[in-house]
Amino acid sequence: MKYDVVVIGGGACGMMAALSAKEAGGTVCILEKNSMLGKKILATGNGRCNFTNEYQDEKCYRVGNFQVFKEVLSRFNVERTLVFFSKIGILYKSREGYYYPRSNQASSIRHCMEKAVMAKGIDFRLNTEVTEVAENDGGFCVTTKDGDYFAKKIIVCTGGKASPKSGSDGIGYTLAKRFGHHIIKPLPALVQLQCKEGYFKSLKGIRSMGKVSLYVDGKEVASDLGELQFTKEGISGIPVFNVSRFAVVALNQKKGVYASLDLFPDFSFDVLCSHLSNQLLYRSYPVTVTEGLIGMLNDKLIPVLLKQLSIKPDESVYSLSNDDIGRMASFFKDWQVEISGYNDFDSAQVTCGGVDLNEVTNHLESQKTPGVFFAGEVLDVDGICGGYNLQWAWSSGYVAGKGAME
Ligand SMILES: Cc1cc2nc3c(=O)[nH]c(=O)nc-3n(C[C@H](O)[C@H](O)[C@H](O)COP(=O)(O)OP(=O)(O)OC[C@H]3O[C@@H](n4cnc5c(N)ncnc54)[C@H](O)[C@@H]3O)c2cc1C
Repeated sequence: MKYDVVVIGGGACGMMAALSAKEAGGTVCILEKNSMLGKKILATGNGRCNFTNEYQDEKCYRVGNFQVFKEVLSRFNVERTLVFFSKIGILYKSREGYYYPRSNQASSIRHCMEKAVMAKGIDFRLNTEVTEVAENDGGFCVTTKDGDYFAKKIIVCTGGKASPKSGSDGIGYTLAKRFGHHIIKPLPALVQLQCKEGYFKSLKGIRSMGKVSLYVDGKEVASDLGELQFTKEGISGIPVFNVSRFAVVALNQKKGVYASLDLFPDFSFDVLCSHLSNQLLYRSYPVTVTEGLIGMLNDKLIPVLLKQLSIKPDESVYSLSNDDIGRMASFFKDWQVEISGYNDFDSAQVTCGGVDLNEVTNHLESQKTPGVFFAGEVLDVDGICGGYNLQWAWSSGYVAGKGAME
């Protein structure tokens, strides 16, 4: 059978693209290699699916071409996204601008999207892996193990390379190259960073509020504030995820990368010195330095930090000098760790890089091979944590679906 549009990949973006093309009057088929549509959605937002965010700013996205990006996002913005989800049966809630289904279950989003796809009469084939696409008779022949599908237009929604267990293994880049596209090297983003220092083994599991600032070749390139998490290999947590793509790209360019951790971002250097003096120097009864710091810092962090400062943990607080207090405050506000690597695509939430946005139109149609559209994570767009990557999936899916029917 020949369809107006074949959507390759039935994830968040593919379902939206299919619904959009169908709404514009087309015959549509989704080809999905998993045994269900939208498998990755189930893992989003720790199983709760943070599906968009009220606060939108260019700073929340890293993009190869802001002109195309802005056009796409303005055509299907947060307001339209919320209306869309209401219409398909999602009652949502906002937590400081971060939107979730009220059920707190990502499965609600997947379920309602799948039901909408069914209700609109969109064909979809599960367990159907696309292996090849070729131009054919003014349209396209999409090859799967179970046979060929013909389409006037195709929309590639195969995702990036992050979390390949949910189906996205990077085939979209291979297809794009065949259609003449240039691929910006796909790299893991929203990912844990590995540090060189051996002491991380003893910090595994610690969480601490803090600020991470990332430096590339000595210059600050990004920073974020929130709950830092320590792993046996390095640093993690949302603020680390949000700066990670800069570290990953820089390490790939063989640049020097370090992170500065501020464990007291809410205190100025002087205020921290005065708190440390009160806790330690002016203590009304003698305690060890370790005991003096309990309550200010996670107690597992204390010996590691003191070792870096060459201060004995069981030394009496009365043996400390003002100079020691100043050194401690400086270190606690600027604990520098060398970034030596990053976790791979298996544990990354998104991909940075992909199909170059400079090679698609405002409707996300290929400038190299008209009739081919790209949408979602396969394109060179990645957002920070907070619903931005799914917003890109919804917006780009919608625009590509409409574009394919114009
Ligand atoms: C653990 C985790 C948590 C996340 N949490 C959030 C969050 O809370 N908020 C947020 O905004 N973003 C979140 N993200 C990111 C977000 O899920 C993705 O950016 C988004 O799902 C991308 O949508 P997509 O449709 O472009 O790609 P995908 O969701 O990856 O879908 C691609 C689909 O294409 C299919 N496919 C691939 N190759 C083929 C083929 N050859 N033939 C047929 N089908 C194929 C795949 O099986 C898959 O179903 C999270 C990601 C992860 C991994």
